[in-house]
Amino acid sequence: MAHRTEALFRDDAYLKTADATVVAINERGGIILDRTIFYATSGGQPGDTGHLERADGSRIAIAATITGETKDEIVHVPAAEQAMPVVGETVKLTIDWERRHLLMRMHAACHLLTVVCPFPITGASVSEDDSRVDFDIPDASFTREEVTAGMMDLVRADHPIFTRLISDEELAANPGLVKSKNVRPPVGTGKIRLVCIGENGAVDSQPCGGTHVKSTGEIGEIHIGKIEKKGRENRRFRIRFGPMPAN
Ligand SMILES: [Zn+2]
Repeated sequence: MAHRTEALFRDDAYLKTADATVVAINERGGIILDRTIFYATSGGQPGDTGHLERADGSRIAIAATITGETKDEIVHVPAAEQAMPVVGETVKLTIDWERRHLLMRMHAACHLLTVVCPFPITGASVSEDDSRVDFDIPDASFTREEVTAGMMDLVRADHPIFTRLISDEELAANPGLVKSKNVRPPVGTGKIRLVCIGENGAVDSQPCGGTHVKSTGEIGEIHIGKIEKKGRENRRFRIRFGPMPAN
């Protein structure tokens, strides 16, 4: 039977530690808790790493976080040769915050890119130092300088980033919210999480389950590293941190 893990990062992406209780160890040795601050790999954002601290102070290193039998079951995958906790045990969770914060900045940067390039998204992947978003773009006249300048305008404006829940009906009435060509947000649960940028979402709103920084200013300086042609109408944009290197 799949467990339902309370995903604390959905309401507060800035939680670095929390206490939780072990509810199960799955057949592959994955640790399932009643609640967690560890984001599980999905939507192009990699899962968190970190550790669980036991009552005696010893630590269980967590090498990856993934979803289990259902999307609501979050599995903490221990590194090799870790001691295993027992069901019912209370542990203190700590995520690798430096890495997570880079991912939150990068993930938010991907949203900004979709504002500057308002085209159907065919794929995306976030990592600590390089992210990519693939678009269907009929017209390939974009330059990395222009796109970088557009993204940096949004960063400097320091727009708020927040989440809001909408109903399936609201989403159905606003099909333009969905920018992804292949991935549809899950409907039927009654609530869809929108990630909004700007006052009342004036800059952008789109369904997303990932973790983001709380304002565009917190993303910091970014640039488009490369625009690659992946097909006649497909372009892959790579986002990197820091100023654009001089050619
Ligand atoms: Zn997102």
